[in-house]
Amino acid sequence: MRAVFIGRPIFETIVAQAERDFPFETCGFIVGDAVAQEVRPVTNIQNRKHSEDPSAFPRDGRTAFLMDPHEQLAILTEIDRRGLSLLAVYHSHPDHDAYFSETDRRQACSFDPAQPDYPETAHVVLSVKAGRFERAAAFMWDAEKRDFNEAEIVVK
Ligand SMILES: [Zn+2]
Repeated sequence: MRAVFIGRPIFETIVAQAERDFPFETCGFIVGDAVAQEVRPVTNIQNRKHSEDPSAFPRDGRTAFLMDPHEQLAILTEIDRRGLSLLAVYHSHPDHDAYFSETDRRQACSFDPAQPDYPETAHVVLSVKAGRFERAAAFMWDAEKRDFNEAEIVVK
């Protein structure tokens, strides 16, 4: 099993964000390099999209997340400028287990269904039940199997 290393303050920050955003899904990025990591929370605009157009967005933010595209672009531009990597994309599952759903897979492969947008980036899912963090799981792309595998999260 591959390992995903997350700094303890970073992990605690995303857990706190996931609990704060309950009962809605939280989302964001962990950016950095081999030396340092930083959290970049992103606004989940799923509730807004759902209320604007419920037929196009049948789910609300309790069972889906949609990252604010402007914030997302700003972060991608920032890491490019600073020479950092997109280490992880994280989101929460309120009152659901920490698994990688079909929707998660589709979102991770938004340009090409056979290939993730960021093949080296870990996908971290946090399960929050009744408002309290329960478990986190990470998933990484396996280029040979052409599928996502669960990876071990090492918080250090
Ligand atoms: Zn999910």
